[in-house]
Amino acid sequence: MVFFPRDKMTRTSAEQVGEEIYDVVIVGGGVAGAIIAKQLSAAHKRVLVVESGMGKDVDLAGYESYVSRFYGTAMKDNQSPYPINRNSPMPRSTDARKITPGLPATDAYIVQNGPFGSDTTYTRVLGGTTMHWEAKTPRMVPDDFSMRNTFGVGENWPISYDEIEPDYREAEREMGVSADVEDQRYLGISFPDDYVYPMRKMPLSYLDQQVDQGIRGTSVQLGGQQFDLEVRSFPQARNGIPNPLYNGGKGYRPLGAVSTSQVEAGERCQGNNNCVPICPVQAKYYAGKTMAQALLGGDVKVLTQAVASRVVLDADGRVSHIEIKQYHDPILPDHTTATVRGRVFVLAANAIENPRLMLASGLAGSSGLMGRNLMDHAYLLCWGLMPQVCGTMRGTNCTGGIVALRNGSFRSQQAAFGIDIHNDGWGWSEGSPASDLLRLVDGQNKFGRSLRRELADSITRQLLLAFMIEVLPDPNNRVSVDPAYKDQLGNMRPVVTYNIPEYTMRGAAYARRFAQLVFQRLGVADYTHYDPGDYGYVTYEGAGYAIRGGNHLAGTHIMGSSPSTSVVDPDQRSWDHANLFLVGGGSMPSIGTANVTLTIAALCFRTARAIIADLA
Ligand SMILES: Cc1cc2nc3c(=O)[nH]c(=O)nc-3n(C[C@H](O)[C@H](O)[C@H](O)COP(=O)(O)OP(=O)(O)OC[C@H]3O[C@@H](n4cnc5c(N)ncnc54)[C@H](O)[C@@H]3O)c2cc1C
Ligand code: SF4
Repeated sequence: MVFFPRDKMTRTSAEQVGEEIYDVVIVGGGVAGAIIAKQLSAAHKRVLVVESGMGKDVDLAGYESYVSRFYGTAMKDNQSPYPINRNSPMPRSTDARKITPGLPATDAYIVQNGPFGSDTTYTRVLGGTTMHWEAKTPRMVPDDFSMRNTFGVGENWPISYDEIEPDYREAEREMGVSADVEDQRYLGISFPDDYVYPMRKMPLSYLDQQVDQGIRGTSVQLGGQQFDLEVRSFPQARNGIPNPLYNGGKGYRPLGAVSTSQVEAGERCQGNNNCVPICPVQAKYYAGKTMAQALLGGDVKVLTQAVASRVVLDADGRVSHIEIKQYHDPILPDHTTATVRGRVFVLAANAIENPRLMLASGLAGSSGLMGRNLMDHAYLLCWGLMPQVCGTMRGTNCTGGIVALRNGSFRSQQAAFGIDIHNDGWGWSEGSPASDLLRLVDGQNKFGRSLRRELADSITRQLLLAFMIEVLPDPNNRVSVDPAYKDQLGNMRPVVTYNIPEYTMRGAAYARRFAQLVFQRLGVADYTHYDPGDYGYVTYEGAGYAIRGGNHLAGTHIMGSSPSTSVVDPDQRSWDHANLFLVGGGSMPSIGTANVTLTIAALCFRTARAIIADLA
């Protein structure tokens, strides 16, 4: 339980911080920044977290104001709970545009050069993007860490699965993951013999069970290997039933809403599927839970409404200070400029904002790779109607999927993918259930009993498979800055240039054929169609596909074993500036087919140890 009374708030002011030299200054209060802050707090280091957002959500009243705003808005998009903030601007899924070659889309926060127009978002409030993430937390498979050595494509990590495994367990504890070890033991993913997850797995939905029943016994051949199909449950960072066997029989105490005296420890997931864009009861993990614990120790302070604007070096190439702009009102540009000083600096602002800040500071780095190798999973959606009622629209967004093609020798030629079975039916592809209502009422003039019958009949049979397709690092896919594009504080906005790599498109084309096979096996009527006017429309070998952004940003300050081929070392330390760490998805040399955040969290435990050793 995190009981977080108001008098423990340790927010600070720009005037106060100007006087101090902190052990560590962390830019960004998302999951990466919060984990490092918490670990440093436990080691009694003096930490300042600089956060560009308003910082309302660390107490219950602030969090609930987001929930109320979400209830009140007509447009329920990813950022609908979070008020407009012109000084900490962020991308919205509704910003996505089809990009005309040579004509960048400049009207939204991220300037998109294309040619692919992405709808990926992130959230610039305290708590970061975990405020509105979906909270699926699979581990990467061991071969994801050695792509170049194993498949001759992509990049190797300088650390192996075995090295990161203990930190995966730390991350699973911190985020409170519900899962079953036996379900997750596949494709080389391994655990210590006595390991159990903190909480028991979320049960498969009835829809998952129907799909599983239909595909059992089916196999596909690819790259000379056979893959047997089945549905497995997904690990999720949301409160389920604690496993009494956790931690050698000591059990696990789930964290519920911060700042509440909880009747029972931990609010449990009620499965009503509002995780994106906000969990009303805080059953879903978000970084505020970790940050609240970091603050309780008393050694961590948070400076909110403070936008890190320039990283400044001393004569030895170490970071001497960071310039911040602390604004007074989220709409108006008035602000105070100040500097924050520390012995060590951590950029934890995410894989777009970290390189944006470095490049805006004139720090492109000796490798020339700052901002390059941007990766984001490509999602391909395939949807149809099951022959029988399957209970669609019940349960959390996604409880199970097909994982057999997350790895295999075929990866030397084409991308791997994982498949999510969506419990929210055609919500992502068609806007269901609102679109069903419009079709039946406006299109077919249905009302009363026949409307109810038709709605129930079609919605409860909807099946949507979301293929999360691997993307390899490509230096041409990048974040850059351009003085022509600034926000109202005068900070340069990110400019993204992104093309879906052919390797990924080969995987997408195979995914479409794979969906047809699965649909045939299940007796599903295929309703998939991709509109050439869609912002994510891509053609490959004569066929068209609509690709969605994955919200899994990575690669832009890539990790490696040499300063000439990477930006950070295995501890996420900048090769160029010894007291600077760039943390988060930007460090990942590959993303495989795992949602990235568990790996980000695991890496941050490792980085925290390195910083504590530096400060000893
Ligand atoms: C809709 C959606 C669903 C997702 N679902 C999943 C999922 O199921 N599983 C999964 O693994 N991942 C998922 N993700 C991705 C996941 O949310 C991110 O990988 C993760 O939150 C990144 O954490 P971070 O701490 O690195 O960055 P962020 O969470 O983005 O935090 C960055 C922090 O830095 C602050 N900041 C930014 N710029 C500045 C600046 N200049 N000065 C000061 N502060 C600054 C921001 O306000 C923020 O607090 C999803 C994302 C989205 C959008
Ligand atoms: S399903 Fe509902 S209760 Fe469960 S994590 Fe999502 S929003 Fe929260």
